Amino acid sequence: MKTTVDSLQGSRLDLFIDGQFTRPHSGQYVPSYDPTTAEPWYEFAQADERDVDTAVRSAQAAFRHPSWARMTQTDRGKLVRRLGELVREHADELAMIECRDNGKLLKEMRAQMRAIPDSYLYFAGMADKLQGDTIPVNKLDTLNFNLREPIGVVGMIIPWNSPLMMLTGTLAPCLAIGNTIVVKPSEHATASTLALAELAIEAGIPPGVINVVSGDGMTTGDALTRHPGVAKYVFTGSTMTGRKIAGNAAQNLVPCQMELGGKSPHVVFADVDIERAVNGVVSGIFAAAGQTCVAGSRCFVEASAHERFVEALVERTRRVKVGHPVADDTDIGPLALAAQLEKVRSYVASGVQEGAKIAAGGRQPQDSELARGWYYEPTVITHAHNRMRFMQDEIFGPVVGVVPFRDEAELIELANDTEYGLAAGIWTQNIDRAMRFARQVDAGTVWINTYRSAAYMSANGGMKRSGYGRRGGFEVMREFSRLKNVVIDYSGAMQDPFVIRLR
Ligand code: NAD
Repeated sequence: MKTTVDSLQGSRLDLFIDGQFTRPHSGQYVPSYDPTTAEPWYEFAQADERDVDTAVRSAQAAFRHPSWARMTQTDRGKLVRRLGELVREHADELAMIECRDNGKLLKEMRAQMRAIPDSYLYFAGMADKLQGDTIPVNKLDTLNFNLREPIGVVGMIIPWNSPLMMLTGTLAPCLAIGNTIVVKPSEHATASTLALAELAIEAGIPPGVINVVSGDGMTTGDALTRHPGVAKYVFTGSTMTGRKIAGNAAQNLVPCQMELGGKSPHVVFADVDIERAVNGVVSGIFAAAGQTCVAGSRCFVEASAHERFVEALVERTRRVKVGHPVADDTDIGPLALAAQLEKVRSYVASGVQEGAKIAAGGRQPQDSELARGWYYEPTVITHAHNRMRFMQDEIFGPVVGVVPFRDEAELIELANDTEYGLAAGIWTQNIDRAMRFARQVDAGTVWINTYRSAAYMSANGGMKRSGYGRRGGFEVMREFSRLKNVVIDYSGAMQDPFVIRLR
């Protein structure tokens, strides 16, 4: 892998099309910034419509090329496994690249890079287990069966928060099925996706199977989502962008899988060990500086425990260490973008304006060493209610609002009073109550006495404006393959061409 943290400094990254680094038609390159210093790090190529067209055509050709199309599923699985092994070999380098690109903690990125190869291994094993079925039709001497086939070129648009993790969830199964891919990484974290495309070639995956078109959403993303050569889209990002992409895709009647934003309820009942619940809530909202789609940003606490819970939460929050993402003792690093910092500031201010109170945080850290970066203190807001703007909009930052509730009926009303439905968490010793909540809450994932415990073996996804479609488990193999019905008449009988055969 030629792309490394050191080689990236001051470099220019090209597009990756048909197995090669390729200059963009426009000749335009855009800087990518280091969030700890707000200084430019490298430049990535800005792909336009022509580059996107070349990439899609390359993926279409690779889809039909015998080197991919005429490969057995078992052999394809071996290549997917090999790619996972190469990610494992380069895990440290990839983790450092992502850490420097998006400011997330090095230890978290390392943990993700250790999990990613296992995910490739898991989907590699599924490559030759995707099978169709036979249908017992009401006709003699007839074989009616469904084939499971790859669908073609899959367009993937991913965010900056965990690029390779987000990509792997659909890239690994898509490869295992036999699809080909055009990825548009985020303009805020491009490098690791290009590094992965290089590794794919090293793994023996044919040129054109994975293509990378870097650039912004308005130009590159828009061109990709309008291209008639794409068979399906996977989008991970904000709900607002998801609406635009689904609109573009609809013009070509192309289906999408949408993994969008969230405003997840995190619930604490009085019967639980408060310290354990506090740790759960802190990790649910402050991990990755709140820049996770499943962030538990609306915390509902049973009224009888509200006061002592808030006290413990504030005390624990004040001990969260904000610092450089590479330092071992850092709990949360900077926000990835300057715009993100502004957004967090403005939502906290809006909460105060609407009458809420800041119980912890609510400002940038005072430490002079952090002054240049886009850091923000973990923030707890009380005296809030669920209809305040900061409780309804996704902030994607380290801000949690705490609201008391009286009983289960009120809790369900509050928890579901949001346009989102991605995840939910509940802390209680009462399993009956936990299950009632799990059944009634609008969320694609429900965690009981835990939070952010994700697994690629289970189907994950959103409800309501958090999206549709599922990734993970065998479900994703169905989502990125298609059924074809085949009928064979083996009677050998000569049919009257105008007799309608009902049996
Ligand atoms: P974003 O929507 O701004 O951008 C995501 C991607 O879409 C980027 O690659 C961007 O360039 C592209 N894009 C932007 N406008 C586009 C357009 N008009 N056409 C095509 N592509 C376009 O999101 P972000 O700020 O990068 O990421 C944060 C968001 O992602 C949050 O809302 C978060 O909840 C969500 N997210 C969801 C999941 C999930 O699994 N549900 C996971 C991670 C992040």
